[in-house]
This record gives sequence, C-alpha cells and structure tokens, in this order.
Amino acid sequence: MGQIAENLMKAREIALSDPHVPEQLKHYLQKALDVALGLDPYLDKMATREKTASLEAKVKPDKECTSGYLKGQVLRMFVHMVGAKSILFIGSLKGYSILAMAEALPNDGKITACSINPYLGVKSQEVSDYSSHDKKISVKGGPLADTLEELVAAGKRFDMVFIDADQRNAVNNYNFVMDNHLLRMDGVICVENTLMKGQVYLETILDENVLAVRKLNNVINSDPRVEQVILPVEGGVSVIRRSPTSTDGVIESQKAVVKDDVFWGYNGCRILDRLRLDGRVAYVTGGGQGIGRAFAHALGEAGAKVAIVDLVLAKAEVVAEELRLKGIESIAMAADVSEPEDVQRMLDTVVTRWGAVHIACNNAGINMNSASEDTSLEEWDKTFNVNLRGLFLCCQAAGRIMLKQGYGKIINTASMASLIVPHPQKQLAYNTSKAGVVKLTQTLGTEWIDRGIRVNCISPGIVDTPLIHSEDLKPLVQRWLTDIPAGKLAQVTDLQAAVVYLASEASDYMTGHNLAIEGGQSLW
Ligand code: NAD
Repeated sequence: MGQIAENLMKAREIALSDPHVPEQLKHYLQKALDVALGLDPYLDKMATREKTASLEAKVKPDKECTSGYLKGQVLRMFVHMVGAKSILFIGSLKGYSILAMAEALPNDGKITACSINPYLGVKSQEVSDYSSHDKKISVKGGPLADTLEELVAAGKRFDMVFIDADQRNAVNNYNFVMDNHLLRMDGVICVENTLMKGQVYLETILDENVLAVRKLNNVINSDPRVEQVILPVEGGVSVIRRSPTSTDGVIESQKAVVKDDVFWGYNGCRILDRLRLDGRVAYVTGGGQGIGRAFAHALGEAGAKVAIVDLVLAKAEVVAEELRLKGIESIAMAADVSEPEDVQRMLDTVVTRWGAVHIACNNAGINMNSASEDTSLEEWDKTFNVNLRGLFLCCQAAGRIMLKQGYGKIINTASMASLIVPHPQKQLAYNTSKAGVVKLTQTLGTEWIDRGIRVNCISPGIVDTPLIHSEDLKPLVQRWLTDIPAGKLAQVTDLQAAVVYLASEASDYMTGHNLAIEGGQSLW
C-alpha cells in the first residue's frame, strides 16, 4: 500500500501542476490516495495494543531491525489459533514479532530460533526489561544446515515454522522442513516477506532477491503436499498447511496402506477432535469449588455449555463468572442434591435454558470422620443423603431426560474409598456410600446403554481440595504420602482429562466403569 500511495502522490503532483488535467481526474486521484494512505494507520490503530508495543518503541530507532506492530499482532493470533507450543524460526531475528509470538505461547512453550544475527539488534538485557517471555526463545547460532540436521536427529516436531523469504536458501529451508517432517501433522508454516512490497508480481523486476522470493512462492504453490494463501500484511505473509488430500497422491503407490477409520479418523475426526464437546450441555453438581470447579472448567474448555450447581449459590456464581470470562456459556444455580424438588428444578432450568442435557456430572459429596462404633445415625444419614441418595436423584432425573433424547453421558464422582479402605482416618459412612456410587453406576451403566446412555464414575485418590483441609484430616497428609506410589497428593487438574474423555464420543464403548485416578494408591 505504501508503494501505491507513493506512486499516487507523484501522479497527483503532476496532475496539480498541469492545467490541462481535468478536475475530475484530480478528484479521483485524491480519493485513491486517501484510501491508500488511510489503510495502514487504520489497521495499526485497530489492532489491540499489547505489552510488546513498548518494546516496539524501544527497538524502533534501528529501522532496519524493526518489523511492524501489526505483523506481530497477526503472528500472535496465528500462534493462538494453532494452539502452538513449539515454534521453529528460520531467518534473521528482526523487530519484535518473535517476542510477540513468544508472548502468545503458553508458559512451557518454546521458540527455537535459527539465526546468525544478534538477537533483535538490541542487548538481551533490554529485551528482558520489556518482556519476560524472551526466556521461551532459544537462539541457535552456527550454520543453519547443521542446526536443522540436529533438530531432525533429535526427533523434533514443530507446531509452527517461520521462514523469512528474504534470505538465501529459503527454498531449501522450506523443502528441508517438509522433507524431514519438522512440521507436525496439523502444523502451519508461515513465510514472511513473500510479497517484497508488491514487487514480486511485477513483470519487469530483475532484482535477484525478489526473483528468489517469486521462485519460492511458485515452489510452494506447486507443491502437492501443501495449500497456501498469501496475506498482504506488511511485507506479505504466506500461510501454509499440509493439504488434507495430499496423502492420496503420496501413498497411492503403497498398496499395504489401509485407508479406514483408523487412518482418516472415526467419522473423519482426528483423536483430539473426538474429545471436543461443542454444542453439548452439561451440569456439574458441587461445582462451586474443588473437583467440581475443575470439572466445570474442563467441560467448558472442551466446548460444552455448563450449569454450575452448588448448595451455596455464591460459590456457583463465582465459578460461572470464571467460565464466562473465558468465553464459555455458563449459568449458576443453587440446589441441594439430596432434595428431589431441587434436583428437578435444576434439570428443568437447564432444559428450559439450553433445550437438552447431554452431560450429567454428579459430583457433590461430603466426608465426615468417626470411628465406626461411634458413627451416629445422623452422620450416616447425612453422608448417604448427599453422596448416594443425592446422586441417585440426579441420575434418575437426568436419565429420564436422556432416555427421551436417546443420548446422554452420566459421570459420577465416586472415590478411591470405593476400592480400598483409606486409613488412618475412620470414615465408614463415606466409604460405604462411595462403594454404593460404584454399584449404582454399574447397574445404570448396563441398564441404559442400549438406549444411548453411558454411565461411568471417576474415583479420585486423595485430592488437595478444601474437603481434606479440615482440622481432623490436615495432620494426616504426611502419613498419606507414604501410601501413595506417586509420592504426592492429586491436584484437581489431574482429574480434568478423565471427565472430558468420559463426556466425549471417544468413550462411547465404556459404561459402568470405575476410573481410578489415585497415583497408584489403591495398588499398595
Ligand atoms: P469440596 O468440599 O471441596 O467441594 C464440594 C462442593 O459440593 C462444595 O462446593 C459444596 O458446597 C458442594 N455441596 C456439598 N453438599 C452439597 C449438596 N447437598 N448439594 C449440592 N452441592 C453440595 O469437595 P471436593 O474435594 O471437590 O469433592 C468433590 C467430590 O469428590 C465429592 O463427591 C468427594 O467425595 C469426591 N472425592 C474427593 C476427594 C478428595 O480428596 N478431595 C477424593 C475422592 C473423592
């Protein structure tokens, strides 16, 4: 756009100084110039300002070493969209776009940068002052070919590969990445500077660098393994992915290759996509804290709408708000799961709001401790009311809706106490109620499977939640640790994948199962 504006300005100058040029032509020249001049500042202004903006100001003095803010923001978006954790960067480290990408990476993400240029053109201390994310960048100096060979030898795969088109051997680098599988299956290659300020498509260009970039674009465009699109962002950014159909051509000759559901993915879905819960409606009881809160986040992150149900409305509201902040549709509800009217109201509310219940996460539970000879009827009833009667009421009410739908996933929270007798704490009522949860799960799991409902339970070991922070239980932590092969208590995040798996289509053949996640404790 800069080039267009420059040429338009010259044309306008000539037009203004020539009395024979019609006014209308001057008018249209001015209009075209306004559009050309206005675009870049507008795009820049409308791109959200991030921390890197301050870094941009810092490195700006060295114009040669600066790439634009907008491109940095675009690359950040790409990193986010791909869900990238590992990035390979081949080229000279200019500007702050590499830092913008580093910021978009998760904490354990990493950029491997192959460059002989000094980092960013500024001292690393200066970079650290402006962004702590530079720790995610590891710069590999030395001959590029050797570095790339080393990465292949180490079996590295990258989610994204960045190649600067404006460098010697860009074609070789692209081919090396593709031929040696440095890009993971669904990864993306971005090639920067593929438009060379618009020169790449001009017929009359003789500049060697521009011709080399043109060749690179053509090589990629005619490579049957990939699809590409070039975006006119600053110097031009090509976005390249493996062509989904390319495997046909590549493996047709290999007779032994079986192209069935295992090859293409069940229903054409790859395994991680099969865990997605988009469009599903879930509720989680006891969702206001601890394990239930973690389950609610996990189900929401996987795509489900989630109703947070808890005895204490305020707790449920906080968690529902957390989910909404992450863009997950969520509502909060108060209900005592041991009360049939509350349970019915809970399900009615969910169905009225979202039209269905696909995932019932019956997790609310309480734990009380006493020696068996002293266990009061009150303690027994209280424990059973929440842990077993409540769970039965929820399963039955959700099950009735799911039977009508012909589909449903019920996930109950049992406990390792259903398998072993945890000690030294004494908890007869709790252990017995949780064994009941498993038997209830097995019974429903077999009774309803032929009508589309799967019922499973998760049995956590000792999880670090408020449930075990009571005055009675706190002193026992050290004692428990000696009983756990894993050598540590479970965190609620250790349980999240299991609930997503059991809620997803990927576990459809599983029913009546008690999935223990206890760091091996039930085996000792
Ligand atoms: P927690 O005490 O941290 O949270 C339980 C939540 O359930 C609370 O928000 C509470 O308000 C709510 N609740 C209690 N009674 C309710 C009722 N009648 N109706 C609706 N909501 C109610 O507990 P947690 O550790 O997150 O445990 C969740 C589940 O996991 C329980 O079933 C528990 O037995 C089981 N579990 C916990 C552990 C552990 O070590 N924490 C281990 C195995 C199993």
